[in-house]
Amino acid sequence: MKKIFIIYTGGTIGMVQDASGTFVPFDFELIKNNLPDLSRTDYELTVHSFDPIIDSSNMTPEIWLKTTKLIQDNYEDYDGFLILHGSDTMAFTASVLSFLLEGLRKPVILSGSQLPIGEIRTDARENIMTALEIASAKHNGQAVIQEVCILFDNKLFRGNRSFKYHSSKFEAFRSPNYPVLVEAGIHLKYNFEALLNNAGQQLVRHNKLNDEVAVLKLFPGITKDTIKAVLDSNVRSIVMETFGSGNTTTAEWFLDLLKEAIDKGKNILNISQCKVGSVELGRYETSQGLKSIGVLNGYDMTFEAAITKLMYLQGEFEDQESVAYWIEKDIRGELTIND
Ligand code: ASP
Repeated sequence: MKKIFIIYTGGTIGMVQDASGTFVPFDFELIKNNLPDLSRTDYELTVHSFDPIIDSSNMTPEIWLKTTKLIQDNYEDYDGFLILHGSDTMAFTASVLSFLLEGLRKPVILSGSQLPIGEIRTDARENIMTALEIASAKHNGQAVIQEVCILFDNKLFRGNRSFKYHSSKFEAFRSPNYPVLVEAGIHLKYNFEALLNNAGQQLVRHNKLNDEVAVLKLFPGITKDTIKAVLDSNVRSIVMETFGSGNTTTAEWFLDLLKEAIDKGKNILNISQCKVGSVELGRYETSQGLKSIGVLNGYDMTFEAAITKLMYLQGEFEDQESVAYWIEKDIRGELTIND
C-alpha cells in the first residue's frame, strides 16, 4: 500500500453553493464521495481536515506553521503528503512551506481545483488522482519528488517558482522562470534534471515566521508621500516591485529615501514587475544607483517566494545583515543567480 497523508484546508475543490449561489467550503466527505475510483487503487489515505476549513484568501502564517508541524509529526509514517488548498493563495503556501521544511526527502504536493468536485466538468478528480500518483512515486526505494510542489492541470510545478496565473482557466498556475517538473499525459513525464535531490539530508522544521514585510509597487508618477508611507511603515523589509530588469526612476529624492530606510535598518528587495526574467542590477543606468545604496537583488524570484522567504528569514534572524545575506542566496531552488 502507498501511504499518503492528506491535509484538507478547504478551497473550491470541496465547496458547495449556498442559497444565494455563493461558493462556501464544505467537509471532506463531499470529496471522498466524489472519488469512487479510490476504492480501485492501492492508496492508504489518512485525512486531516482543518477546522474550520477555509477559502484560501483567509490563509495565515499561523496555519502555515500548523501545517508544517502536521507534516513533521507524520513524516516517518507516510510516503508523501497531499495538501488540498484553494488556488488563490496556494503559491504563497507552497513557497513558505518550502522554506520552513528544510531537507525534505518526501513529496509535499499542493493541489485544488477551479470547479468544485461535485460539478460535472470538475478538474478536481484529475488533479487529485495525478497528485496521488506523483506523491507516491519511488525510484530505488526513494521518493522521486523531494520538494514542495503544486499540481494543477496535468503539470507539476516547483512550489516556490509558481504563481496563480489565471482566475478561471483550468490552467491556473505557471512557473515561467523554472521548467515544469512533471507533465501528465498518457504517461507521467518526469523532468529528472529539474528535480531537487536532498539525499543524505534530515528534515529540519523551522517554526518561526515574522510578518513585518511591506510592498512598494512602483509606477510612473508615484508620489513621494506614498513611497514615504511604505518605507516608514513598521516593517523590517520592503519588497520593491520595479520595472523590467529591476529599473526605477533615477530621481535623487527617490534614491535618498531608499538609502535613508536602509540606513535605518530596513532591507529593500528588488524584484521585477515582469513575470518572466530576472533583475539585473547595473544593466541599465536606472538600476545602477540601487546597487550602490544597498538595495538587494531578488533575481528571478516570484512575488510569493520573495514575501514568504523574507518572513522565514526574519523569523530566523534578528539582524538586518543576515536577512540581507540569505535573501540573495538560492536556498530551496527558488532563484537563479545570473551574475
Ligand atoms: N477562492 C478559492 C480559494 O482560494 C479559489 C480556489 O480554491 O481555487 O480558496
